[in-house]
Amino acid sequence: MDTQKPATRPMLKSSQKTSNENVRQQNSGLVLEALRRDGALAHTDLSASTGLSSATVSAITAELEKLGLIERREVANVGHRGRPRVLFNRRRDAAHVIAVRISSHAVQYSLADYRGTLIDRIEEPRDHGATTASAFLAGFRDAIERLIRRSRLPDDAVMTISISSKGIADRDGAKLLWSPIFGYESLDFESALSGLSHPGVSDRGNIRLFNESLLVTHALLLRLEKSRQTPLPALATLSLGHSIGLGVALRDRSGLVRVVAPNFGHMLHAADGKLCRCGAYGCVEASAGFYGILRAAFEVPPDTIPAKFVPLGEMEKIASRARQGHRVSEYAFRQAGLALGQSLSRMLSLAEETMPIAITGPGTRFMDLLMRGLTEGLGQSQHVRVHGAPEILIITEEETLVFEGHVDRALTEIDQDLGG
Ligand SMILES: [Zn+2]
Repeated sequence: MDTQKPATRPMLKSSQKTSNENVRQQNSGLVLEALRRDGALAHTDLSASTGLSSATVSAITAELEKLGLIERREVANVGHRGRPRVLFNRRRDAAHVIAVRISSHAVQYSLADYRGTLIDRIEEPRDHGATTASAFLAGFRDAIERLIRRSRLPDDAVMTISISSKGIADRDGAKLLWSPIFGYESLDFESALSGLSHPGVSDRGNIRLFNESLLVTHALLLRLEKSRQTPLPALATLSLGHSIGLGVALRDRSGLVRVVAPNFGHMLHAADGKLCRCGAYGCVEASAGFYGILRAAFEVPPDTIPAKFVPLGEMEKIASRARQGHRVSEYAFRQAGLALGQSLSRMLSLAEETMPIAITGPGTRFMDLLMRGLTEGLGQSQHVRVHGAPEILIITEEETLVFEGHVDRALTEIDQDLGG
């Protein structure tokens, strides 16, 4: 809107219209969201779950049908004679999303429809046979094109490519600034995918990059709120593995949720001379990442260059020795737990909130060994003494959460674009 013009009558009219337009857009967003999260719904259920009046739901569903975003289906009203029940649902083919998860060993390319259902997936070894960032990006682009081609979807069907990795993503673009795999060699996904033979994506520039922990937190918050049937004021997720990731979701007074993934794994934990994969000393990860635990268990000097990759089998061996009472192995897990507990307590103090902490990732199989140090580390802070210990949840499965986080964020954005 041009704010330079004097506020004449037509101007007032148009701003009036804009606010009505906003309300309508918000309402159609609510309807689309309810259908995304709950699946097919009847008129009355849509009204109940969105809080919109029956008349508003009628107007919005009619419009969304016209836009081709939703469809209606008549189903027999079991046990009732007369009129069949009408169920509204999102139209599968209204838009598609590609979600890519880059992990230390593999890259998973998933295609989802407008309902958020997974319809195809390609999984490749992470290196695509390539060790440099540019070769990786070439393989990446190739895999995306293959997935689109074999889906036989129309040219503009894929509206968003949503990518996740561990590491540091820049806030605005789709650039990975540091990653455990490529170090400080930055990866620019937006330019790597420019001029893609599939114009739907590259025209709109809807390429998103997220830190993986942010997506896990987003998806887990939705899941917990659904199962507990109540909004959570805050939630943190801690991912344990080769890297340490943290995501924090905080709800503000107006009810809006902001999810962030601070660089927790590379936050300074202690000036203890332990060399981190990032090149700094004393990071949380240098104590609590798999290589940190391995280094402590084998009593190698703390400034030893971290192992690139620690096979899970190697970690299991240390764990089973620790469970049999081997003191150095036990200590390695305990010092890792302590680093995590102390660092989490700092996070809680800064957030001024005692929130549930969900622990995810391959490291969850060692919780019996990590928990003692973790509880001890948390308990050392004044925040925990005053407000009590946070609830700890163990979530062993991460992959589906990453996918759900990708799809929910991408479809919310697409709903705003299309439903407006
Ligand atoms: Zn570091």
